[in-house]
Amino acid sequence: MTHGFFTPPPGDSHVLRHVRAPRCLIEDPGAGRLRPAGDGDLVALDLAIEAGRIAAIAPAGATDAARGPDLDASLVLPGFLDLHTHLDKGHIWPRQPNATGDGAGASQATAQDRTKNWHAEDVRRRMDFALRTAYAKGVVAIRTHLDSQAPQAEISFPVFRAMREAWAGRIDLQVSSIAPVDVFLTEEGVRLADIVAESGGNLGCVTRSMRHPAEPTPPEIDESITRLFQLATERGLNVDLHVDESTDPRARSLIRVARAAVAVGFKGRILCGHCTSLALQTDAFIAETLAACRDAGIAIVSLPTVNMYLQDRSVDAVRTPRWRGVTVLHELKAAGIPVAVAGDNCRDPFYAYGDHDMLDTYTQAVKILHLDHPFGDWIRAASATPAAIMGLSQRGVLKVGAPADLMVLRARSYSEMLARHQFDRTVLRGGRAIDTTLPDYRELDDLVMRRLADR
Ligand SMILES: [Zn+2]
Repeated sequence: MTHGFFTPPPGDSHVLRHVRAPRCLIEDPGAGRLRPAGDGDLVALDLAIEAGRIAAIAPAGATDAARGPDLDASLVLPGFLDLHTHLDKGHIWPRQPNATGDGAGASQATAQDRTKNWHAEDVRRRMDFALRTAYAKGVVAIRTHLDSQAPQAEISFPVFRAMREAWAGRIDLQVSSIAPVDVFLTEEGVRLADIVAESGGNLGCVTRSMRHPAEPTPPEIDESITRLFQLATERGLNVDLHVDESTDPRARSLIRVARAAVAVGFKGRILCGHCTSLALQTDAFIAETLAACRDAGIAIVSLPTVNMYLQDRSVDAVRTPRWRGVTVLHELKAAGIPVAVAGDNCRDPFYAYGDHDMLDTYTQAVKILHLDHPFGDWIRAASATPAAIMGLSQRGVLKVGAPADLMVLRARSYSEMLARHQFDRTVLRGGRAIDTTLPDYRELDDLVMRRLADR
């Protein structure tokens, strides 16, 4: 058992004295009284916890020393949220690697593994492993996409619903479908919308079609997306899409999605993930797309680690990648569009690495996307913004009344936090330190290790 670098005192009520937190994550009428401390927008505070919730936020030193430990400027952060994941794919790498490391290789390898292996128990065990890992890292909410081509939706959605119930109170779980966009021109698409509705999920797809798999923007995109918005409207669903995850600048679906949403007067929330090829467009087309997204009320989530891995990879030449594979996140934010970062895939053909750690995702995003100099309020992209997009108003911020589900770091500054992996963080749930021991990969050996004879 390990509880990170410190353990709070026993009892129902204590104060984390002399800690620091980003001002942009503090929602408190007295926040203006908190003194700046350290780099970025950090401020010094005492954070009181009672009965599992944040009870008070006061200037550092304002609290009686008997009420809790002096944490000597340690950072306190709200538990982060992972807005875009694929828990159904996670951890299959040992039995189904991606030979080329690119998107095409990933799709092919995943389809092969899905057809062969994704029975309910296989999906459930890998999902459970992922959730236990994320929980130990301090993650409080996750949205997962589930591969939804028949017959997989009928297998994976019931597993998801059981997991959501089993994990209630520890990790808030949300779900979205993912299938080729033209599925919504078929009866299977209607059935899928029903499954999503029965599961309280988001209706989603990828902006690729089965009919024209080689087309970066499928010819049936407008018709299919319009149909998706209609099916979502009829069922009161929000929408979560994989858009333009491509190194090909001819992938220009995002603006079409935005215009279709406005044309049908869609009233729900829309989240678009990836949008990588937007970074390869002209400034004029980027500006036009951003304006359309703002009109449609679209939020964007970037998946920096995965897209740096997949995009601009050469499979048959000696060639170094020339771009980072990420979308124009700074321009999107400057245009007033809500932007988030998330973890996406984990040890599967779309990403060979990853550990369900949103603090690590944020840390890598800072470096991949230059979310620094200044740090500004970019940390909200891993916390407050995904919480707002997920409709979880008690999450991603520090405020009185919110659950004391926190990460406490030995690091005292952005510099210390971003420079060193925070392996020794203390994770508080309801104010108590949880066991942060990670599940052992060996648990999955019988599922994912290929036998010698199969190699
Ligand atoms: Zn994804």
